Amino acid sequence: MRLILLGAPGAGKGTQAEMLTKLYDIPCISTGNIFREHISNNTELGQKAKAYMDEGKLVPDSLVIELVKSRITQDDCKNGMIFDGFPRTIPQAEALDVMLKELSIPIDFVINVDVPDELIVDRMSGRTVCPSCGASYHKVNKVETVAGKCDLCGETLIQRDDDRAETVKKRLDVYHEQTEPLIAYYKAQGKVLDIDGVGTVEEVRDRVKKALGVK
Ligand SMILES: [Zn+2]
Repeated sequence: MRLILLGAPGAGKGTQAEMLTKLYDIPCISTGNIFREHISNNTELGQKAKAYMDEGKLVPDSLVIELVKSRITQDDCKNGMIFDGFPRTIPQAEALDVMLKELSIPIDFVINVDVPDELIVDRMSGRTVCPSCGASYHKVNKVETVAGKCDLCGETLIQRDDDRAETVKKRLDVYHEQTEPLIAYYKAQGKVLDIDGVGTVEEVRDRVKKALGVK
């Protein structure tokens, strides 16, 4: 089973990816992990990628594709794989299609987890963390006992920059502009399974399974 997970940042893709790796015994492919592995092993591709990153530049798509290819031709991908967070743009999707065609391993389904922006902003901007012990809290899902204080160590909780409403909105804008067009791209190939991402993790999981025809 070869899958791509699409959805806005904060739509809960990671949790579903975890479920799917177990269900189909396939690894989750994230470009971040591939980059880190190549860089820590100091491979030729890793050195090239690092040169761009050190200059604060984006790693070009052609190199990203080479890195992805090096990963999905490994043994543990023989049953398939899940792409999470890649492709991010139409040019990346086109390059991925070309590569998978060469390898004769087309994508089976693209799972599109749909959550309204307002809900994502609510979910993410509700998070706080303890700067001392790292415990995390949420104004709805995991409320601390004494407002604003860590249950474990009493430290004052903070909100990470990544979780501020303005930051979340900016990331959503980038998603809508660059990544959302992929839904239409894959719909034209008849591969998209639209999943309502509103609800509990279990509810969304059951919808994903149903869409994939898993009992
Ligand atoms: Zn703490």
